[in-house]
Order: sequence, then structure tokens, then C-alpha cells
Amino acid sequence: MNPKKLNILKTRLGRITTEYGGSTRNEPRHMAVDVANAPGTPIPALTDGVVTAVGKTNNGFGKVVQISDGKGGIQQYAHLMDSMVKPGMRLKRGQRFARMGDSGNAYSPSGGNASHVDVRFKDANGRPQDPTPYIRNIA
Ligand SMILES: [Zn+2]
Repeated sequence: MNPKKLNILKTRLGRITTEYGGSTRNEPRHMAVDVANAPGTPIPALTDGVVTAVGKTNNGFGKVVQISDGKGGIQQYAHLMDSMVKPGMRLKRGQRFARMGDSGNAYSPSGGNASHVDVRFKDANGRPQDPTPYIRNIA
């Protein structure tokens, strides 16, 4: 066991089960971070933002919330149990807006579906960004 690795894996939001750029059953390069915790764990906004979309997708992400970061970037939080927001609502960093679940294809690295949130950041040009520093710093 590598102790450095263990530090990376544990955050207040939960345990990072797939790191940014890692590979999963769905994606050879996972340009997102998966954070696992108990179903119903409240999810905080990782930055200030405005909710742009709330809904259920058919592409494996299940229930999602998308938040604009105010600089042209979009953040997507997927596999939710449910959410308490609507498009147009403003969020402050740290504000709880949804609960963790296993909607969609919420595959766990250890097999089967498992409660986690897939956090996916894109910049104003649509390029994937690493959300890990935001996940690590959230209280
Ligand atoms: Zn994922």
C-alpha cells in the first residue's frame, strides 16, 4: 500500500474511486472524478455558480445537475439520487444542492452499481478540467 495514494483517495465528500484520467469500464480515459459515499450523502457545490440544467439522462449518467461556473465553464454532477434545485438558481460554494445515489450506470470499480457522484468540469472551450483540487478543498 502506498500511503500517498491513500491521502489522495479520502476527501470530505467521500472516497475517490476513479481519479481524473483513470480508466473505467465505460471510458478508457475518465475525464472526471468519481467520489463514493453512502446513498443520500449531501453534495456541495464545488464553486459558486448558477444551475443550468437538472434532469435525467439516457446516456448512463442518470440524474444530473449542471452548473455554470460564471466563466463559461460547465460542471456536471451525475448519478444523483435527487436534487433540490432548478435551472437559474444561484449556488454558493459549499451549498448542498443534491444527494448522492446510483442512478444511471453507476458502476463501481469493485463491480455492480454503487452510490457515487461523477464530477465532470469543462472550461469555456469545452475542454475537460480536473476537479480534484476543488473536491479536496471542500469542507
Ligand atoms: Zn465516473
